[in-house]
Amino acid sequence: MIVLGYRLIPRAGEANDIMSNFWNKQIERADYLANESSGSKELLTFYAQLLRAQAEFYDSLRSRKNWLPSGDLETDLSVVRPFMTALLEIVARHGPTSLAEEAQTLLTAETDILPDKLLDYWRNPSDTQFFAKALLQPYARWLAETGTPPAGRELAGGDRTCPFCGGRPQLSFLQAKESNAESGNRDLLCSSCLTSWEFRRVVCAGCGEERPAKLGYFQSPEFNHIRIEACDSCKLYIKGIDLTRLGLAAPLVDEIYGAPLDLWAREHGYTKIELNLVGV
Ligand SMILES: [Zn+2]
Ligand SMILES: [Zn+2]
Repeated sequence: MIVLGYRLIPRAGEANDIMSNFWNKQIERADYLANESSGSKELLTFYAQLLRAQAEFYDSLRSRKNWLPSGDLETDLSVVRPFMTALLEIVARHGPTSLAEEAQTLLTAETDILPDKLLDYWRNPSDTQFFAKALLQPYARWLAETGTPPAGRELAGGDRTCPFCGGRPQLSFLQAKESNAESGNRDLLCSSCLTSWEFRRVVCAGCGEERPAKLGYFQSPEFNHIRIEACDSCKLYIKGIDLTRLGLAAPLVDEIYGAPLDLWAREHGYTKIELNLVGV
């Protein structure tokens, strides 16, 4: 499916029910990898819970009668805000200590600061605003699926941010688009609305550097289908998931599975373009 230059991830099938299967696929992959993995087990277990909460929120948006999102979060806030409580409860129960404490504080706060937090994030997305980012991903994805342009967000322009919502890339992935393609095309996946867009293969997703000598790729035998894509001009990096090597990978989840590679990147002086939802 191609709509105005951005694309929803499940390209095969193209049917509506495949869209809602997006969340099931992420959850199944997270459950599977949480069992397999030793190094990232806790992160993946938490992420699986978070995905379940996001999927539930997405389903309730999708099945809401006589309602479609306006694209303006302030207008849609009365529908979105109630789900924040469910999300906070899950994080308070399953999250890592610092996030769990923050969730508990927000749940018991006397004044409701969450609407402001949500609107702040919407206008100016940041990877450190965990709760708003987690809650608004399903909302923004539903906007994309219903073709509702987001309002009140700055679109930065250029191809290094999402053409639909202006969000920064969470990861890149390689995927064969034509049956005869040998090495695959590269796409970036948006950290805000979870749609993807095409991006040139040998270019830094952070600053646009094109000189091959400035671009480094780092892999470990443990993660054959995941690599660090680092740039020596801006010192930023992003993780790339190679679906031509492992077709059943779910880029969002496998990106977290490959958390040990982030440690390596940080130790070598690189900063991630966008932290993922488990803070790595
Ligand atoms: Zn986006
Ligand atoms: Zn760069």
